[in-house]
Amino acid sequence: MRPLLIFYILVIYILVQFCWWAYLLVDLNREVYKHKVELLELTVKDDAMLKAAKDKSRTHLHQKWLMIAGEGFVFLSLLLTGIFLIWKSFTKEIYLAKRQKNFLLSVTHEFKSPLAAVKLNLQTMQRHKLDEEAKLEIIKNAVYETDRLNEMVDNILKAARIETHNLDLQKTEFNLSSCIRESLRSKIQHVEEPGQIMLDIEDDVNITGDPLAIASVLLNLVDNAEKYADKYLDLEISLRQNNTQAILKVKDHGIGIPGDEKKKIFEKFYRVGSEETRKTKGTGLGLYIVKHIVAMHNGTVNVTDNKPKGTVFEIVFPKSSA
Ligand code: ADP
Repeated sequence: MRPLLIFYILVIYILVQFCWWAYLLVDLNREVYKHKVELLELTVKDDAMLKAAKDKSRTHLHQKWLMIAGEGFVFLSLLLTGIFLIWKSFTKEIYLAKRQKNFLLSVTHEFKSPLAAVKLNLQTMQRHKLDEEAKLEIIKNAVYETDRLNEMVDNILKAARIETHNLDLQKTEFNLSSCIRESLRSKIQHVEEPGQIMLDIEDDVNITGDPLAIASVLLNLVDNAEKYADKYLDLEISLRQNNTQAILKVKDHGIGIPGDEKKKIFEKFYRVGSEETRKTKGTGLGLYIVKHIVAMHNGTVNVTDNKPKGTVFEIVFPKSSA
């Protein structure tokens, strides 16, 4: 808050100074004009000549005033534009710093829950004699939680790389239909009853891109649908293609995103609502990564309301030319 206060004081000081100097300039010219007229009255005796000389001086004075006003206007406009730009980047930095603080708080919580789950699974195996089937189930859960943790760390690394323009994509032509099915396999197995993920995937949709990055886009969207589901996850994922585009839609029936928030959710660290009232944990990085990875594939991502409730994310990728 302090730097912003100093900034406001400086701006007020500069503007007051500006007005004061403008006033002094106008006044100085008026003084010069007054003295000029006095001098003319003393030196010029002829009335007609005196009037003409006075008129000329007055016109000259008005021209000077016009010049001061014009230059003052340009100067003031530049000054105000500069002040506005500095203010904008100042407030943006402050806002980002606040969100970064929230991010640190929530990321610690996010990391703790899969770690606790893995620990619990291991302790169960350590303390109880389990049959083979139960053991496999516990191991499957532990692997799932480890994957989740891995996804989170991956997200943070990706966001950092996007920020520093260091995210390298390994682009090849690949089958998006298979990639989607493959990356959702473990998710589908872990959907809590009576939740569901319905797939409607057209076969053999090929695009050029980084399959791992595209999978992380999809997993981020599915994770969100899970987190912001009303009670149970109810998700439809469809993939269609036309001559030039592959269109991926992720439709949930969750809590939805209010109209004016739809644009902001793609900003880094942005989360809807306030940190105090929000129940779900998250980092605010998921959609930031989605937006950037999609853009790095020359695609677009769009968010709209689902009917009767929920959210639809539509991602359009240009297709590989056959
Ligand atoms: P995170 O989920 O970690 O908070 P994201 O960048 O993935 O961060 O999402 C940003 C915000 O957008 C979330 O905090 C949430 O408020 C909102 N959001 C994202 N996806 C959905 C969804 N499917 N339904 C409702 N809200 C969503």
